[in-house]
Amino acid sequence: MALEIGIPMSRTFAPHPQTASRLALSELAPGVLQSEIRAMTTECDRIGGINLAQGVCDTPVPAPVEAEAHAAIHAGHNIYTRLDGITRLRNAIAAKQQRDYGLGYDPETEVLVASGATGGLHAAAMALLNPDDEVLLFEPFYGYHVATFQSMRVKPVLVPLAEPDWALDIDALRAAITPHTRAILLNTPANPSGKVFSRAEIEEVAAVCREHDLFLFTDEIYEYFVYDGGEHICPATLDGMRERTIVMSGFSKTFSITGWRLGYVTADAKWMAAMAYFHDLTYVCAPSAFQHAAAAGLEQLPPEFYTQLARDHQDKRERILSALRDAGMEPSVPAGAYYVLAKATHLPGATSAQKARHLLAATGVASVAGSAFFRPGRGEDLLRFCFAKKDEDLDDACARLRRL
Ligand code: PMP
Repeated sequence: MALEIGIPMSRTFAPHPQTASRLALSELAPGVLQSEIRAMTTECDRIGGINLAQGVCDTPVPAPVEAEAHAAIHAGHNIYTRLDGITRLRNAIAAKQQRDYGLGYDPETEVLVASGATGGLHAAAMALLNPDDEVLLFEPFYGYHVATFQSMRVKPVLVPLAEPDWALDIDALRAAITPHTRAILLNTPANPSGKVFSRAEIEEVAAVCREHDLFLFTDEIYEYFVYDGGEHICPATLDGMRERTIVMSGFSKTFSITGWRLGYVTADAKWMAAMAYFHDLTYVCAPSAFQHAAAAGLEQLPPEFYTQLARDHQDKRERILSALRDAGMEPSVPAGAYYVLAKATHLPGATSAQKARHLLAATGVASVAGSAFFRPGRGEDLLRFCFAKKDEDLDDACARLRRL
């Protein structure tokens, strides 16, 4: 059963105090707001623990990317750029989409360099959706997706993936459609489940989009993090999907530059000008010097860089899976991305937030409560661990988990 939800579960909300004063928060603003992920990070820092909570990969930045960032600052690329990004990077992104997926985008009119995939989604939603429109998202979900739609009064509608392997339940997807449905958001490979949607599943989602004339927003930020010889399918490549698919991705994960805020959207020219307009309103442009750095990465890094990235992370995945199994936590094996959901059934605590705090106190390893990724009442026996860590930190965390 699909469920309309009112609030993102990753946050704690309190009702606003009734007040006659005009000095009040907006209707959309939560009264008390503390992201569970950030809360765990703060607590982890306080006790000097190992943070497997936040998805901040602290692996090294590829050499050409780092070198070009310095060079670009020295060369004076420190001022506003064109609102949709520098020509060099738009060209490199268009070439990448052609190389990887055979998708042709005009770099002049069909590529937006965004302040992260996050900024890209915000701009796309502002440009294409209206208040009270409904967007279908798969559960477990990534909290920012849900919260971004809510922040513009668009209604997220959750469609559960079927456990244990998070299979697409096409009947649940169809049952969730109403006359207000405007779009589906598909995150593949997915955070937090690690699910990589198969071609057959994406065909089914695409058929629903065509049948009901829906947009498909895709979050493909983990496109290169696919394991066991699997394949990332870009949904825009399917028949009749290019025009209705808004492809979002970015460099945070691929180049380990989460703090640089660089991502992109590729989409049909029909939608792009409005997206660029809204991106301009919030961000003006993506960071100027770093745009050159990302372009250098796309231009110079060989195909082996991307295959090695997947191999390295598959190796990290094996390390954490083995430690979680030894700790009796029954991890589900992610086919992609860099998170593991594991069972915390035997840990003390009534909720997953309490279990995560117990684990942190007992081992010094921070994780995220499963409840952050589900509707209220679900995910309470799960914890999420991020394994995009330097090997020595990951091994330390694994040794601590094994001592549980
Ligand atoms: N999408 C997903 C699914 C993510 O997990 C993350 C990072 N946690 C992002 C987007 C953020 O991407 P960016 O840094 O490009 O805004």
